[in-house]
Amino acid sequence: MSARQQVQNLLDFIDASPSPWHAVKSVEAQLVAYQFIKLDETAKWDLQPGGRYYVIRDDSSIIVFVQGQKPLVETGFKMIGAHTDSPGLRIKPNAASGLDGLLRLNVEVYGGPILATFTDRDLSLAGRISYKDDQNNIVSLLVAFDRPLLRLPNLAIHMNRAVNEEGLKLHKQNELPLILSVLAEECLPQAYFSQLIQQQSDCDAERILSWDLAVYDTQKGVFWGANNEFYADSQLDNLASCHAALQALLDDAVLESGNTLVCAFFDHEEIGSESNKGADGSFLGDVLQRIAIAAESHREDYVRALAQSFMISADMAHAYQPNFPLAYDPDHKVTVNKGPVIKVNANRRYSTESISHALFVDWCEQAGVPYQKYSHRSDLSCGSTIGPITSARLGVRSLDVGNPLWAMHSIRESAGVLDHGYMIKVMKRFFSS
Ligand code: ZN
Repeated sequence: MSARQQVQNLLDFIDASPSPWHAVKSVEAQLVAYQFIKLDETAKWDLQPGGRYYVIRDDSSIIVFVQGQKPLVETGFKMIGAHTDSPGLRIKPNAASGLDGLLRLNVEVYGGPILATFTDRDLSLAGRISYKDDQNNIVSLLVAFDRPLLRLPNLAIHMNRAVNEEGLKLHKQNELPLILSVLAEECLPQAYFSQLIQQQSDCDAERILSWDLAVYDTQKGVFWGANNEFYADSQLDNLASCHAALQALLDDAVLESGNTLVCAFFDHEEIGSESNKGADGSFLGDVLQRIAIAAESHREDYVRALAQSFMISADMAHAYQPNFPLAYDPDHKVTVNKGPVIKVNANRRYSTESISHALFVDWCEQAGVPYQKYSHRSDLSCGSTIGPITSARLGVRSLDVGNPLWAMHSIRESAGVLDHGYMIKVMKRFFSS
């Protein structure tokens, strides 16, 4: 498949995934063609060697795995981890309020987005709603408005003369509510919003009990540049890594390798991973233990398997932008279209260490994939990933890699077309090793 086609598939995947709950549905949709079986955490599992399975926890984290045919103590778990969530705006429970003739939605900042990029965009809402069904069970369904619904209009420059010198600053409580509609005199804001959700989801308003809703950008992904060598979309951090890992797994040679293969995509990375379904929760450890139990392992064999295991923590890296040379360490500039980036941080914000680093270099060389090395400026604090967390919880060797990306945490991020295919290629090499 051409590099461009691989990226087109990624853009389609992202555009079908306007929220972390939708991202998990999109992953699930890709598994169907490969005979993966859905497992329920409350049921007893009957895992067969070579069997293909997946588990979803609370709709927005998913672990996909292939039960190995080779002895687990010899191969260990070959794992790639990434995250399904992206920073942005989330709707507060009492969502709507009327002010000065306009109806606005109250929002809370989720994680660390570049807020200024949310202004003047064609925003909409996506997420899940929870309601009571005919049998009085609480169930959820996904909802997305699929059209521009909301907006955060900028202040005119005539009222904010210093914006180009000082940057756009937005007060999180007062200046982020999103405009939804004109406020009619008889309108009750909460009832209006409930009605809107009800119409979109086809669920009776009185049955809807709660919801999780994220703001997203309706603009689709595009290729850009003189030769279409770049692409842009929302949520590249980190749906691009989820997509790459999944494509590497869904390869016939990889699936037939006999190895125990795991893709773990977690929600809540952007807010620290500490939740029942985050990387700092029990989800991955619980699933790995059940895989080991099915392989008739004793407790000691499980620990031996972990000692033999490897986790690639895949998350995007900061591509060099020549307009801002001082933002980067001059000896660690990484460039789009020059291959995956190995991320190193002495203070363990990334999990890479010399041996895991060397192994990844070796896989790149075996796969004929170029690679780059990144270290953050020493006088700037560095972001982190799920790598150090999962590595610490499981005691598994790990490294952090990611493709170079411009404008991390903007609502519109960009990257290089060649890198996505490179990443898939080296991940396949790892899974088959
Ligand atoms: Zn990320």
